[in-house]
Amino acid sequence: MFSAEVLKRFDLNGPRYTSYPTADRFTPSFRAEAYGAALSGMASRPASLYVHVPFCRSLCYYCACNKIVSKSATVADEYLAVLAAEMALVSGAASKSKPRHPVVQLAFGGGTPNFLSVTQLSRVMRDLGEHFDLLPGREQGIELDPRFLDDAYVSALPGMGFNRVSYGVQDFDERVQTLIHRFQSFDQTAQAVKAARDVGINSISFDLVYGLPIQSRETFAATLERVLSLEPDRLALFNYAHIPERFKAQRRIPTETLPSIEQRTDLFLYATERLVDAGYLTIGLDHFAKPGDPLADAYQDGTLRRNFQGYSTHQSTDLIGLGVSAISNLNGVFAQNSPQIDVYRERITQGQFATVRGVTLSRDDEIRSAVIEAIMCNGGVDWAVIGERFNIDPAEYFDAAREPLERFAEVGIVTLNERRLQVTAQGKLLLRAVAMVFDAYKNLKREQVITFSRIA
Ligand code: SF4
Repeated sequence: MFSAEVLKRFDLNGPRYTSYPTADRFTPSFRAEAYGAALSGMASRPASLYVHVPFCRSLCYYCACNKIVSKSATVADEYLAVLAAEMALVSGAASKSKPRHPVVQLAFGGGTPNFLSVTQLSRVMRDLGEHFDLLPGREQGIELDPRFLDDAYVSALPGMGFNRVSYGVQDFDERVQTLIHRFQSFDQTAQAVKAARDVGINSISFDLVYGLPIQSRETFAATLERVLSLEPDRLALFNYAHIPERFKAQRRIPTETLPSIEQRTDLFLYATERLVDAGYLTIGLDHFAKPGDPLADAYQDGTLRRNFQGYSTHQSTDLIGLGVSAISNLNGVFAQNSPQIDVYRERITQGQFATVRGVTLSRDDEIRSAVIEAIMCNGGVDWAVIGERFNIDPAEYFDAAREPLERFAEVGIVTLNERRLQVTAQGKLLLRAVAMVFDAYKNLKREQVITFSRIA
């Protein structure tokens, strides 16, 4: 393991690079018209769809997502009407003079998608089916909060096409749960897993978080053992990033209760070792999968992709995001909807896209994106592949990266030769820092961040 000194020297909290440029580099000068033009010129290949459901019933203090805490079911009805109008707008632009755009992958995230009732969720599926060609055999997943779930809800999912579920778990220790204001018993989670398996949903993922208040190796080990007893197919192990100046809810977590960088590193390494012992394969930065899971296969054959949901097995590069704060990535642009529900509603009801920020990718962005994705997905870069794909001499193009990479090599984070940059097994913990070497925006002032993923 690296010394604390080495870990402190390099930035452990760099971006998770679910996109490049990262969302905090999108600019307000990117106009909704540019998004419309990108949709109109979209390739006819099947796309991925993401639907953002922003509502939650209760506030978790560690949360960095775009969400609205509410107890009212009617807020969702109003939202779904706007969402349907957005589907019509988007599909109208994407399908101009073509049939409905085909969709091979569909994901619901939030917030809490199961804030929607079964009736409301069916309504979204019906609206999606009207505006898009939802291909048979598609991958269709949903993030579910086990605290607000019953068997009847889960049993309705396969009929709507869902074949994957992801459960937020975080930590089963009650003292940790009190400090993060998320009370979720092991029994609730176990019942949610059983309910999914009983109706034939055999792809179950868990999100765990390390670096939460008062977590220790002892408490986290107990959580891990309980998690392993439920045999999830996939696990994500996110590092909690405490940024109270950006995320108001985090101000309720006393900083002095947080584990030190050494403790967090120890938690991550311990959990990795335990999961590997239990037979899981490590995937990229922070994911684990059972052998034979499509994610593990994609990692092993080098076809893994990175997107806003983390890692993906899909080669489709076109992502249409629907809903407040959702990001689309298609036809050389990133476009993000307003994170403010009033602005989102107003724009869509006026028949306009709700885009408020984005970026049109330059050639340099595309080259760097390919390198960063290779580091995040495969733990290394084959320079011949990059050279051939972009018709460049990588050594010359990335001359400025040589010196920082040599510093990484000196302490064993990477190995370097003319053909390949490889992150070592130990260096995996510093994957983000290695990717940052290729980030041309890293020294520029960041825009205000609108987060999208569960953890900053
Ligand atoms: S962590 Fe999930 S459930 Fe909790 S407030 Fe954030 S989005 Fe809602």
